[in-house]
Amino acid sequence: MRIPRFYVPQPFAVGQEVTLPDTTFRHAVQVLRLGVGEPLILFNGEGGEYVAHMSHISKRTASVLIDSFSAIDTESPVHLTLVQAVIKPDKMDFALQKAVELGVNTIQPLITQRSVVRIGKEQVDKKLLHWEGIVVAACEQSGRTRMPTVQAPLTLERWLETPLSGTRMILAPGDFPRINAMPADLPTPIALLIGPEGGFTGAEVETCVQAGVMPVSLGPRILRAETASSAALALLQHRFGDL
Ligand code: SAM
Repeated sequence: MRIPRFYVPQPFAVGQEVTLPDTTFRHAVQVLRLGVGEPLILFNGEGGEYVAHMSHISKRTASVLIDSFSAIDTESPVHLTLVQAVIKPDKMDFALQKAVELGVNTIQPLITQRSVVRIGKEQVDKKLLHWEGIVVAACEQSGRTRMPTVQAPLTLERWLETPLSGTRMILAPGDFPRINAMPADLPTPIALLIGPEGGFTGAEVETCVQAGVMPVSLGPRILRAETASSAALALLQHRFGDL
């Protein structure tokens, strides 16, 4: 049976007894019904993972004993940022989950002219918490050892003002070079912009190009935003990373 993995963002040491945070307790004990002596893996997002076993369980708390540290590294050599226009909530969740499985390091939600979903100032913190939850669950499931960051949403104009090294690409249907035909020595890190359900406007694509963002395509078929995101990230990981 696969040993369950839990993200617990705190420092650990071999031999240490750790009280599980409430959410981890609920997942490990109440959902997965782990019992005393059963193995589990903890990771804190700083690299590597800790093999542990349940040492004590009571009605409301549980502790684990850290048995060993494994310096396992499941991170890709290429640093990827997904700059994803905000799309409908279930589609956004899907795009983020797949992006984490595909090894992205940073997620930048983007507000664009055709964004249907609007996030009010008072909703930003709640949205970020929700997206971070998706990212944590995807890291736990996919064996990631470093936690990708989710940034607060920005407008396209604000994002273009952020200084970034490497290569920035905008994915837009049209007669643009294919994303999988990029030269092997393309400067990294790579930031990839994906549009909302209605796509980027022509003016947005033009503004990006003027700002030095490379327009790229995924071929003749129009993919849904969340499909485009997964397909493009898979191609980038294949070309420049470890897929
Ligand atoms: N009619 C819209 C347009 O022309 O942009 C379609 C938008 S598509 C549903 C959502 C996003 O997925 C696009 O903004 C783009 O980032 C990406 N996308 C989908 N299919 C694509 C393709 N064949 N080439 C490049 N990008 C694509």
